[in-house]
Amino acid sequence: MSAAIAKSRIVLLGPPGAGKGTQAAALIEALGIPHVSTGDMLRAAVKAGTPVGLQAKAVMDSGELVSDEIVIGIAGERLSEDDAKEGFLLDGFPRTLAQADALEKLLDRLGVELDCCLALTVENEAVVQRLLKRAEIEGRADDNEETIRERMRVYDAETAPLLEFYGGRDRLIEADGMGTIEEVGERIRKSLNS
Ligand code: ADP
Repeated sequence: MSAAIAKSRIVLLGPPGAGKGTQAAALIEALGIPHVSTGDMLRAAVKAGTPVGLQAKAVMDSGELVSDEIVIGIAGERLSEDDAKEGFLLDGFPRTLAQADALEKLLDRLGVELDCCLALTVENEAVVQRLLKRAEIEGRADDNEETIRERMRVYDAETAPLLEFYGGRDRLIEADGMGTIEEVGERIRKSLNS
């Protein structure tokens, strides 16, 4: 991939099952920036049995959102680490307007600015089917039909408003997330370069 992508502080947005994790892996490799996934960090906390993990587990398993206070705390700590100074790919954060506000304040404190919010657009029913398939393969505790539909509802209610938040700040870049991994990856590269 070309080194022409100048953007290095990126929020990756999209509903559950949009392929954020897959595309994030390719992007961080191309851009040489750390992948900051609050979902991964929370799952690690659950596995390690930390106080945050103990608090978060039931909430995550039911498809609801972990409290803003907790995720703002863990995201803030992670973004303050040295390797995030030159850039980061945020995945799964922010997920609410309160988190988006907190992120603005945090970046302000760190003296940097977000380059863009890259939003993957997909059809809801198609991603529900994708997630059901992943549930069979990976057996993640929050991947059953009821929880998947709940995560979709929570996304529409809490997270979709971020499209307007970043759109209003001229930071929104949308990329069609339907198609093969390669097709979507190519669209992302193009939209980040334009
Ligand atoms: P998905 O597979 O839906 O993209 P993630 O792996 O990003 O989900 O996160 C899994 C779960 O962790 C979420 O359903 C939610 O309970 C919790 N979580 C992750 N990030 C956040 C956040 N920023 N705010 C609140 N809860 C979060």
